[in-house]
Amino acid sequence: MTAKIYVANWKMNVPARESIEQYIGHLKKFRVPANTHIIIAPPFPYLPLVARLIKKSRLEIAAQNVHWETEGTFTGEVSAKMLQRFGVHFVIIGHSERRRDFYETDAIINRKLRIVVHTRLTPILCIGETAAQRKRGETRKIILTQLRRALQGIRNPRVIIAYEPVWAIGTGINAQPTQVQQVHVLIRSWLTRKYTKKNTIPILYGGSAAAHNSHSFMQQPDIDGLLVGGASLSSQQFRNIIQT
Ligand code: PEP
Repeated sequence: MTAKIYVANWKMNVPARESIEQYIGHLKKFRVPANTHIIIAPPFPYLPLVARLIKKSRLEIAAQNVHWETEGTFTGEVSAKMLQRFGVHFVIIGHSERRRDFYETDAIINRKLRIVVHTRLTPILCIGETAAQRKRGETRKIILTQLRRALQGIRNPRVIIAYEPVWAIGTGINAQPTQVQQVHVLIRSWLTRKYTKKNTIPILYGGSAAAHNSHSFMQQPDIDGLLVGGASLSSQQFRNIIQT
């Protein structure tokens, strides 16, 4: 059975109406069902605090970014090895905000994936089409190109894929669950061909997911979890998303 995964991507924010201690404390009280991962992705400076707070719980942490080298003259950057030392197990790579604002190309994303896999961390690879690309009927082409380029040379299939249509991120506009399911089937069949017939690579959906719609996404057979931005800044809302 594929694991169920819920990721709280705080982006460059901290929870709005509670301290980080309260937030983690609230989530720790939640009985995490078997084969379910709840992953918190705070900004870099908060990783040590969150790592300390989640000790002796089923919660896990992700970084929101990583550099492709292990060390060196890369001002402002953080390596996978450094993240690992702080108890990080997952790294978000290729988020559309990084592609858009930091000009991350598929080639850069591929280099980041390689170092993360090499360090034995699990990448959460984000892919997704823009509104214009969908309108032009290019969704399939964009998704397959991003997948192929990002995973080039990656033989170990210990990755998580997050399908995040760019037009649904932070906009309050949800993709339709059946629309998402279609893309997930496309991703799954590509992964099955590349890696293994018994494909257990989790595929998450991200894009304005919230408590009122999480159930309809999670009912789809090929949606294995959710990557949540805005609604993850409240522990109550994030818990509701997981519970529903
Ligand atoms: C995201 O940050 O990847 C995301 C999906 O954000 P939001 O839930 O706010 O749309």
